[in-house]
This record gives sequence, C-alpha cells and structure tokens, in this order.
Amino acid sequence: MRILNVILHKIYIPHRSSNRSEKEIYDMSVPQLAGTPVIVLKEGSSRSRGRDALHANIMAAQIVAETVRSSLGPKGMDKMLVDSVGDLTITSDGRTILDEMDIQHPAAKIMVEVAKAQDDMVGDGTTTAVVIAGELLRKAENLLDQSVHPTTVIKGYRQAAETVLKVLDDIAIPIERSNEELMKTVARTSLYSKIVSGERELFAKIAVQAIKQIAEEKDGKVNVDIDHVQIQKKEGESLGETSLLNGLIIGKEAASSGTCPTCVGNVCEIGSTSKSVKDAKIALINSALEIKKTEFDAKIRISDPTKMKLFMDKEHNMLKDMVQKILDAGANVVFCQKGIDDLAQHFLDNHGVYTVRNMKEEDMEKLSRATGAKIVTRIHDIEPADLGYAGTVEERDVGDEKMTFVEGCKNPKSVCIFIRGGGEHFIDEAERALHDALCVVRNVIQDSRVVAGGGAPEVELARRLRKYADGVGGKEQLAIKSFAEALERIPITLAENAGLKPIDVIVALRKNHDEGRLWSGVNIASKKLSDMEEAQVYEPLKVVRQAIMSATEAATMILRIDDVIASSNSSMNVPPGASTGVPGTNPYM
Ligand code: ADP
Ligand code: MG
Repeated sequence: MRILNVILHKIYIPHRSSNRSEKEIYDMSVPQLAGTPVIVLKEGSSRSRGRDALHANIMAAQIVAETVRSSLGPKGMDKMLVDSVGDLTITSDGRTILDEMDIQHPAAKIMVEVAKAQDDMVGDGTTTAVVIAGELLRKAENLLDQSVHPTTVIKGYRQAAETVLKVLDDIAIPIERSNEELMKTVARTSLYSKIVSGERELFAKIAVQAIKQIAEEKDGKVNVDIDHVQIQKKEGESLGETSLLNGLIIGKEAASSGTCPTCVGNVCEIGSTSKSVKDAKIALINSALEIKKTEFDAKIRISDPTKMKLFMDKEHNMLKDMVQKILDAGANVVFCQKGIDDLAQHFLDNHGVYTVRNMKEEDMEKLSRATGAKIVTRIHDIEPADLGYAGTVEERDVGDEKMTFVEGCKNPKSVCIFIRGGGEHFIDEAERALHDALCVVRNVIQDSRVVAGGGAPEVELARRLRKYADGVGGKEQLAIKSFAEALERIPITLAENAGLKPIDVIVALRKNHDEGRLWSGVNIASKKLSDMEEAQVYEPLKVVRQAIMSATEAATMILRIDDVIASSNSSMNVPPGASTGVPGTNPYM
C-alpha cells in the first residue's frame, strides 16, 4: 500500500537574500519521492529555517527587552497595562510587565521565562536579566552577520558566563548576618526604583524585621520562606501607615456577637467581649462544630412528642459537650476551618469566645505558625497544650470591611505586613515592591555577600572579560568581547533613563575601572559617577549572578534554534501585520 501520499501543504521558507520565486522555494522544501510529494506536516503549518528563523527569533526577543528597558533603575518609568477585560496594572516590575503583556511569539516567551526564573529564584533583578538577554542576542546577531557560526557564539558566551561568575565571587563583599543596617541598605536599593521609594526607609525596616522574625536556623543553614510573611493591603490612609504586625490579619469578621459573660447590663467590666479578646488562648479546629450528617439520606419518623424532645436534647447536649471540651482546654478564641452550628455558636458566645468560621486552610497554617497553636481535628481530643497565644484578637473595621486582627504573638514564625495607601493600583505596586525587598533581604541572610550597584559590577565584569578574551584564541574571543559589551548595557541604560549621556558615562566608567576604582558606578541620586559602595547602594550577589545566568541561558537557547515549525493553529501563524502587543512592530516577520 502506498502510505506516502500526495501534496504536502505549502511550506513557506522566506529567503531574505535570494531572489527565488515562491514556486522554486516550494519545490525545494517539498521532498519528492518518484515525483510524489511526501506529507510531513499538517495543512496550514508553517516553517522557517536557518538564518531567517534565527533572525525572527532574535528580533522578537529584542523587542521584549526593549519594552522593559525604560523601566530599569531609580529613574525608570512605569508601564500601564490594560488586560482584555479592561483591568489596569501600573508597574515597573519586569516580571509583571511581561506577564501582563500576554506575549504570543515563542521566542519572546523565552524572555518571559527569563523574568519568571529570575523572580522565582531571587525575587529581584528581573528587568536586568531581560535587558542583558536582549543585548546578548543583539550582539550575537552582529557576529552572525560577520559569518561567525551560532555554535561559536554560544561557546564564547558560555565561557564568558563562567568567567563572570568566578569574577563575581572574587569581588563580592562579605557581610555579617547580624548587620541589620546593611540589610536595610540592600532593601533600600531594591525599593529605590519603585513607586514606594519615598517611604523606602520604612519599607526597608519592615522588610528586615519581617524576614528576621520568620528566619529559622537549622544545621547552620538559614531557612526563609517568603510565604510566611503575609501581605494584607487595603486602600485608605497613607503609605506611611504601613505596618508590621507580630501576628496576622484574617480577612474575615467574627461570627461571635460581641457579648461578654461578665458584663452587667451594657457595661463591660473586663473590657473583653467576644469581638475583642485580650490574652487570647487560641484553638484552631479543622472540623465542623456541628452534628455530623449521615452520608446517605435517612428519615427518622418520630410519632411520640416526648421522643421528639429527647431527640432534640440529645443534639443539644452533643453540641454543648463539644463546646465544653473547647472551654475546658481554656480557649477563648476559636478559628474553625468548617462551619459552626448556630447552637454551638450561641454557647460559645455565652462564654465570650471569639469565633471565626469557614477559615481558609492556608490561613489556619499561618495562624498555627504565628500563635504556636496546633490544628486540632478531633474536638474531643483538644488539650490546653494545643492552644496558641496572642496578646489580642479583635475585629476591626478597615474601610468598608471587617477584619480579624491577631496581634502580639510571642515569637511568631509567620508575620503580617499591612499595606495602606492611596488607591488600588498604588497599593498593588507597593506590594510588588515589598515582595522584591523581602526577597533581597532573604537573599543576603542566606548568602551573606553583596556587590555595590549602579552598574559598577557590570563595568568591572566587562573589563575583566575583555582581558580574559585577549587570551582566548579563535572566534570565541569575539563572542566573549560581545558578552562584555552586553553587560555594559546596564550602566548605559541606567544613565539613559536618568537623562545622562550614555557614551560619556560608559567612557568615564571604563576609565575609572581601569584605574582600579572597583565600585565606580552611576549614582542616580547625585546624577554623577561615584563609588557605589560609599554611596551605600548594595545588591545581593545572588541577584546579579542569577540575572547573568538566566540571561545567558535564554540567549544561548534562542541561538541554538535553526528551525521553527508551527502547527496551523499556533500563534506563530498569525497573519503578517497582526497585533504583537507592541505598537508598530511585528516580530513574526
Ligand atoms: P530590576 O528589576 O532588574 O531589579 P530595577 O528597576 O529594580 O530593576 O533596577 C535595578 C538597578 O538599579 C540595579 O542595577 C541597581 O544597581 C540600580 N540602582 C538602584 N538604586 C540605585 C541608585 N541609587 N543609584 C544607581 N543605581 C541604582
Ligand atoms: Mg529591583
């Protein structure tokens, strides 16, 4: 039987350099078997190969890098992104910009991955990573135009990245974990380029305190899980009212009615009601405070009224028993992951117990870490040792919402930062800035090494790379030198964004570094070149390392591609001229 059949759909290979007709190109791309074309791809698929594929990919990736470049550094601008349903995001955060841009082109998506990897690994330096990756590709394209093979460029780039990592280890500044001031400085640097930079002092202090509080030392290693810092935000008041709580805020109101068992009339003598409890002994229960329902439908027919009463009493007593167990353990606050029966609620209320029902599982875990309470499944097994502690548990009105504040925990391993400020978009961006600050503090606690910022490390790395390249034979040397130039794009961009002349800046920086001024960089505050160590602009070594590593990986990955085969319904097959998300450009072409 003849399996190979007629007509391979039209594979279009654009030839930039040749003048071949479409027919000729088609004939070349369709393998012929005894005069019969062989079907390989589904109809409607498209394919581009060789330099054309590479060129299109490099261009798409560069467009992405160009988009975020103007956001780099303290004088970088923000982007306003509107999604398909009209929701607005205003940010200068590299990852958020790329996430929200809803990028379609596969090579451009690799750049989005760079930002994601950077954010997941170290939490900061996303824009830096994308800018370096874009620049590495731009320089690579120049080399390809000079007939350097992509594999040579890749080899050179890899050699350069290895050297850079060694140099970084060499120039890094070790710091003491106990040096809180320096940690604040690192947090301040990451906040400098954000909308909250006016309150960077407060945010840096909060970030350092929060991370120090949740850090746990085990076998000489410090574990810091950023998820243990809860961030709550609510429009209203000002950014300066943002605070750190030794406890948590649960976005739920109390189920209890606010009665106090010892009150005479309406006057509360102990100042503690079931909506505000001092010296809170907290029970965390993850089963329902209700009578268990049968798993199957059942009907009980009661014909005798006395039996009816007995039945009701039984239910009543079972709920009372449950509540009594909780009270016997000494709890005056109950957070329940499931429902609470109205009758049980009534009994708890009578004893002035603060209750919240239908809690989220993650909030229960956070409460357990913050208060030291154990999450109890069988209410009948609850013991005093299972209870946690907080100075106060209170329901408060925040704007138009009621929230439960759990404060004054002793040595909590989960804390909460409560962000206040102007509008919704403003506090969303404040949250992203705080996330970056928390991450950089975590980075320096885990790896106590920093470098000065302002482009100083990149210029030094470029200088040493050029020296190293001189000792490398072959065309790889050109790739290593290109890598050096790509790194210099960071100080150049910082200068450009600050309105300085990039050429003058880079020439002066190179000179300073040649003269041994290791930390000479672009000081945005003074709009001059300064010693960035003296200017107290520090970044975690991990952030710079990761940015260079992620950028190199992305660039080499794109450079290795020489064939793009896209199925008929893939985003690659968007007709020429279709929107790319970037006005006036079409990376598919
Ligand atoms: P990223 O997403 O890469 O972290 P940022 O917008 O946060 O991008 O900018 C980080 C860059 O800004 C780093 O190169 C850092 O050294 C630089 N930077 C931060 N503060 C200053 C400052 N005061 N002077 C000069 N450069 C600074
Ligand atoms: Mg940053």
